[in-house]
Amino acid sequence: MPIQSLNPATGKLLRSFEPLTPEALNAKLAIAASAARTYPAETLDQRIFWMRRLAALLDADREELAATMTTEMGKTLASARAEVSKCAAACRYYAENAARILTPEPIDTESAQSYVRYDPIGIVLAVMPWNFPLWQVFRFVAPALMAGNVGLLKHASNVPQCALAIEALVRRAGFPRGSFQTLLIEARQVESLLSDDRVAAVTVTGSEAAGRAIAAQAGWLIKKTVLELGGSDPFIVLPSADLDEAVPSAIKARCINNGQSCIAAKRFIVHEDIYDEFEQRFVAGMAALRVGDPTLGTTEIGPLATAQILDDLLDQVSRAKAAGGRVLTGGERALDVNGGDEGNYFQPTVIAGVLPTAPICQEEIFGPVALLFRIGSLDEAIELANHTPFGLAASAWTTDTAEQQRLAVELQSGAVFFNAIVASDPRLPFGGVKRSGYGRELSTAGMREFLNAKTVVVAGPAREAQPSLFEQPKSEPRNEKPSEFLQIADHLRKFEHRKGPPPVDEPLEPESAPRDGKDRPPTRGSILGLR
Ligand code: NAP
Repeated sequence: MPIQSLNPATGKLLRSFEPLTPEALNAKLAIAASAARTYPAETLDQRIFWMRRLAALLDADREELAATMTTEMGKTLASARAEVSKCAAACRYYAENAARILTPEPIDTESAQSYVRYDPIGIVLAVMPWNFPLWQVFRFVAPALMAGNVGLLKHASNVPQCALAIEALVRRAGFPRGSFQTLLIEARQVESLLSDDRVAAVTVTGSEAAGRAIAAQAGWLIKKTVLELGGSDPFIVLPSADLDEAVPSAIKARCINNGQSCIAAKRFIVHEDIYDEFEQRFVAGMAALRVGDPTLGTTEIGPLATAQILDDLLDQVSRAKAAGGRVLTGGERALDVNGGDEGNYFQPTVIAGVLPTAPICQEEIFGPVALLFRIGSLDEAIELANHTPFGLAASAWTTDTAEQQRLAVELQSGAVFFNAIVASDPRLPFGGVKRSGYGRELSTAGMREFLNAKTVVVAGPAREAQPSLFEQPKSEPRNEKPSEFLQIADHLRKFEHRKGPPPVDEPLEPESAPRDGKDRPPTRGSILGLR
């Protein structure tokens, strides 16, 4: 089957690609295997240099990359721009922090020396979803390349142009041939790829079904996995909440990325003391959202990414109604930009009164549809919030510190945000519990998932640690393409001197970029194991 790029706003075919043949796939694997032998020998300074160039290229190509995302999967152009900037911020975060994360850690024992090294493990396969076509990949690729691993990307079949654009960016930044490759393959080709001995590990972001299938095989093969799967995050509003903040945040939390984010709030659990006011304001806000052409600056909700997602959503809404739900706004397909039904549009929807025990409450709803629940106590809020197979994140609105403490402890999720919507952030670990997956992305924890924490012990009487043991071979960063470098040098300079994160037009899932934005190259001392 050809891999097709379709515009979800119009249904038009943009481009079509033939999946790689087994022979072509094998050739790419051989290139990756060769890179896995040579790439880790590049100095950390060199890799940091390339990573900064990658960040600069993302900034330079922001408009083009954003347009590719919007036409392939329908996110608004404003959110696509923010996504590109966030990828650049993640590259800078890892360029800035790689030395700290990778530095061997001395451990006090009775031996002459004992320490932990963090070594790359080789080829890591990334199976990625379409919903944040760049961001999902960059939060894998930035730490992987920084650490000396080699990346292979199997992106979702509906975003092949984004997948190819990422590969081109990494090459233009200067990373060696084979250190990162996009594979245009179908899901069924992942099995043979993963079983190849040259592939060391796999990271999956996607549905529970994909995670289960890949992790089952990887488990049998004894290959490391990280799973970032679905979510049905609660948004809990308690009496002390400031509704002027909570209501617009609830709307944003549900509708970010046209409602297709793993950490979008999906179940709104509201205390009876403030329920009526919250419901009235939330429904009015959802009904007022502007649905339309994602390329227009005024549009707040674009189309769903595929016709299948639209069909699934219609089915879920009808089952929510059958389970006692009252549709307070929306509930129907919306017309497309031409007034027809070629695009995958859905009205922002609020449904109240669904029985919490109904099967629909156990599913992830991937689109702008909110389920609203009334509760009478904190105990009830926690019980309902945890009544899901998922455990990705939670947003809770209360200024009562005792309530915050209980929620932080008792909510079964990978993150809890108080009086804020859940956001991924390169500085903070990201991942879930229960059927939302395991392992972490981003921050120190994310980078170390695919590293060998190697224990080294040197027997003998305890002595002063010797920095030379940890030192990497040192060379000046190479610049193979001076003309291209000159082209991006202005961008690089601009961002190096700026204080704070790159500009963000609109929050991404939602946005929170690193604030430390200083892009200093690491000093020689900082790549030594001990100072
Ligand atoms: P999906 O259908 O599971 O697809 C994700 C990726 O897995 C795609 O590349 C897909 O390839 C591949 N895939 C699917 N089934 C496979 C199988 N049996 N073997 C090998 N590969 C397989 O998910 P999606 O619809 O793209 O993404 C939406 C889901 O991702 C939601 O559940 C969302 O919550 C989750 N998500 C989670 C996070 C997180 O960080 N936790 C972040 C974003 C999204 P094809 O496209 O070729 O089928």
